Amino acid sequence: MSAITDLSALALRDAIAAKKISATEAAKAYLHAIETLEPKLCAFNEVLADRALLQADDVDRRIAAGEALGLLAGVPIAIKDNICTSFGHTTCSSKILANFQAPYDATVTQKLQQAGAVFLAKANMDEFAMGSSTENSGFKPTHNPWDLSRVPGGSSGGSAAATSARLCAAALGSDTGGSIRQPAAFCGVAGLKPSYGRVSRLGLVAYGSSLDQIGPIGRSVADVALMLQVIAGYDPKDSTSVNAPVPDYLAKLDEPVAGLRVGLVKEFHSQSLNPEIRAAVDKAVEAFRTAGATIVEVSLPHSRIDIDAEGKLSSFAVACYYIVATAEASSNLARYDGVHYGHRTAERVNDIVTLYSRSRAEGFGEEVKRRIMLGSYALSSGYYDAYYLKALKVRRLIRNDFDAAFKQCDVLLGPTAPETAFKIGAKTADPLTMYLSDIYTISVNLAGIAGISVPSGLSTQKLPLAVQLLGDSLAEDKLLRAARMYEKAIGVSELKPPVSA
Ligand code: GLN
Repeated sequence: MSAITDLSALALRDAIAAKKISATEAAKAYLHAIETLEPKLCAFNEVLADRALLQADDVDRRIAAGEALGLLAGVPIAIKDNICTSFGHTTCSSKILANFQAPYDATVTQKLQQAGAVFLAKANMDEFAMGSSTENSGFKPTHNPWDLSRVPGGSSGGSAAATSARLCAAALGSDTGGSIRQPAAFCGVAGLKPSYGRVSRLGLVAYGSSLDQIGPIGRSVADVALMLQVIAGYDPKDSTSVNAPVPDYLAKLDEPVAGLRVGLVKEFHSQSLNPEIRAAVDKAVEAFRTAGATIVEVSLPHSRIDIDAEGKLSSFAVACYYIVATAEASSNLARYDGVHYGHRTAERVNDIVTLYSRSRAEGFGEEVKRRIMLGSYALSSGYYDAYYLKALKVRRLIRNDFDAAFKQCDVLLGPTAPETAFKIGAKTADPLTMYLSDIYTISVNLAGIAGISVPSGLSTQKLPLAVQLLGDSLAEDKLLRAARMYEKAIGVSELKPPVSA
């Protein structure tokens, strides 16, 4: 049998249930991997070693007693540090929440716990999920296991790097504009942003509430499906969660979608696209054709990317996102004032306003402050109509394009990110270039539909390449089956990076 840490979450779960491996052995194998590699990768904010071993022991006792087991019994996982856990800390990688202990479990935490998952660690991220490289973490940047001098992507960089490097079997991330899919692409793993409302957001620390969604990262499409199975579903405590039945994603995963129509997004397949990434999309087209799918060309005019005479990129979707997301963030982050929540300045101050502003000035990082200012400006009197209201109209146009596209096809195909993992420090001086990292992912959040990034092999520089598949709202079952069809057809999954257990 291969090393425990090389097994997929699904295979590990089955081996534990069949008593071939104990949950304790699995937890210990992962804790050992963390001890060895975490100093290089910095994927985690907190490792929950003692609790993980207790949880694993509990799973082993249940197995010995012949009790019914949950879908993830004994599988060691990591969760992004903006998802509340009643154990350990929930910091959002922000100094303002460095000591915060959540008083309750997020709904997804509860569901994972009930399914028997073993919580190994809270994963590093860009502060409050604002970023595309994990360099905005208030604590430390995470390194990419394919090349330690490169970023793992972000904001769920810790979750993606850890899953890829075998520091956990699978992980949860959150995706507001691409934060699950882009790091998954950079680290050579699969990552799904479920459609808005599919997974409860209760206990996910809010960034842009109308865009945020929790989703799984795994080394294969099947592992992503397994994780989604556990976390999906209506939650009466989240008024934006959708009251719709959750299909059995795993049961039919290997059945190809009969007559699958794959829409190649015209606007994303331009000559300006990085040639290796374009080739990956072309390879996906061929793989789908070989698997029996029909390829149709579709247009998403309001998600198009414009290039000016100097070669600078721009897009309605990115512009719209940075109004909507920052507007929501400016309101959501008002609660961190050193009184209700978080860091309070140690300076002696005489009035409440100074107390708030000092505490926030000390606690928030630069990017978070930039976004609070952008969002407050966009919502301010006199600018609300010009910016925020206009952005909402653009958002509707983007959504309408997707509705039309899904009349012609079952899933859409395009790139996940405009490039492979970039060097640490390459974009920190210019936030606008960093914002363009999400040029292919952001419209998916604005439209509320589902998207998955799946690996497609390695570039000439030995860095992961990926493609993105999009599915209509609540059509994750079809999307996952199409992704599985693709994965089988190109024969790439469970890629193993040079820095891994
Ligand atoms: N990179 C985007 C941002 O910085 C998206 C982040 C996310 O999806 N959380 O906002």
